Amino acid sequence: MTTTRTPPSPATLDRLRDIVGPQGAIDRPDELAPFVREWRDRFVGNTPLVLLPKTTEEVAGIVKICQETKTPLVPQGGNTGAVAGQIPFEDGAEIVVNLRRLSKIRNIDALNNTMTVDAGVVLQAIQETADKYDKLFPLSLASEGSCQIGGNLATNAGGTAVLRYGTARDLVLGLEVVLANGDIWNGLQSLRKDNTGYDLKHVFMGSEGTLGIITGAVLKLFPKPRTSETAFLAVADPAAALQLLDKAQVCFGQDVSTFELMPRIGLDFVLKHLPDTKDPLADNQAWYVLMEVASQIGGDALSQRVQSFLEENLNAGLVQDGVVAGSLTQKAALWRLRESLPEAQKPEGGSIKHDISVPVSSIPAFLERASKAVATHLPGVRPVPFGHVGDGNLHYNLSQPTDMQREQFLGMWEEFNALVHDIVSEFGGSISAEHGVGRMKASELPRYKDPVALRLMRDLKRTLDPHNILNPGKVLDVKSE
Ligand code: FAD
Ligand code: ZN
Repeated sequence: MTTTRTPPSPATLDRLRDIVGPQGAIDRPDELAPFVREWRDRFVGNTPLVLLPKTTEEVAGIVKICQETKTPLVPQGGNTGAVAGQIPFEDGAEIVVNLRRLSKIRNIDALNNTMTVDAGVVLQAIQETADKYDKLFPLSLASEGSCQIGGNLATNAGGTAVLRYGTARDLVLGLEVVLANGDIWNGLQSLRKDNTGYDLKHVFMGSEGTLGIITGAVLKLFPKPRTSETAFLAVADPAAALQLLDKAQVCFGQDVSTFELMPRIGLDFVLKHLPDTKDPLADNQAWYVLMEVASQIGGDALSQRVQSFLEENLNAGLVQDGVVAGSLTQKAALWRLRESLPEAQKPEGGSIKHDISVPVSSIPAFLERASKAVATHLPGVRPVPFGHVGDGNLHYNLSQPTDMQREQFLGMWEEFNALVHDIVSEFGGSISAEHGVGRMKASELPRYKDPVALRLMRDLKRTLDPHNILNPGKVLDVKSE
């Protein structure tokens, strides 16, 4: 933040507490700590008050007081965000509004394939509820046990099933949002077709709490696949991975739901640092793909087709080696190799992260350019690029050289970001594919975003939040101009 701000007055804090009652207000420093600390410990903010409203009306009441008293607020879900959008700044001027007590499943309409939920419902609870109705809610992230659907929609989360089902915004039919003046917008339609003007829900999804507080949503459900097969396939390089993806999509169509890439160094980290993991293949290979295919067709048909797909591509030399999980335990073990990669990087020292996307076809060229550039900038740096290659989205993480101090390496965060993001930009890519802008990338955005798009974003922010009380300084710093 560039402006000097003062904490809310005791009288304002009392009025805010009155809205939620004693159960819904936290102000003891030891109890405030988990709400101001980001899970990676990169940002620790400060706030005099965390509010836990239980209803949409309570959220509206809070926002009305904030608007009247010009008190800035930070909406917060499960606090798993990767760009510090959910953490207040250090000056203690903001209150935090955490949605976790807004946690009801409001309605399920099985024939309409929809579920209406409060914004504070944890993603995993939504998946489990859908499952009870023999349906699928396909959004899937490693943080699903703690992130909330409101946070997922506010960040337009991605994850491992985007290839088949799209990002969070593709899974929504309607929204309920509390606006900056305390009005409640009831946009909870469960319609698949509605062309009555602008599609307002898309303004709020991906806005990271800067345009409104999402309090409810109508989510799309899908038929639960009858069978799924998980394969772990070794390929020579990223270009081979893309050829394999193309072949898989020709063979299985939309049934390819996951196509994830990881390099040998990533697998080495996992095998070295995580207990009970083992290399599913006999020899060391350069790159690996985790592929999942899920189908409505039951029986053994899918398993046989995946096996013959593997054999065909082994014979053609596109796949070097591979295995198809033969049991649920094996399937979980293969998924663990991919999902625990960020955790396995921690014992290797500092890791500088990039969440980038480029056109899928540009992945190999991007990787070649970026790897050369980072190695020239810091000999010994260890790139660990992994992720959702089928979406053109890689977590281009850099592990520190083995002979360097962690803090010294992490001090290079911004210079590496600039180096990698400039290359991303040359490929027409994005510097934030799925995590958002939040606080971490707000100052970088003007360098990479089209100036007309930025101006429209600022105009929208000023129109919807004229007093700049909703998560100020995140995504855009409208005050600094
Ligand atoms: P928070 O972190 O609490 O908030 C995130 C942002 O949304 C903040 O700007 C906040 O102000 C805003 N916000 C929260 N709730 C609301 C609301 N109700 N209304 C308006 N604004 C709100 N992300 C991916 O996209 N793909 C992944 O694969 C992925 N994997 C992850 C794995 C791990 C282990 C972890 C820790 C994180 C991962 N993430 C991933 C990042 C994170 O989980 C997502 O960004 C998630 O959507 C955030 O949800 P949350 O409820 O924790 O939101
Ligand atoms: Zn990801």
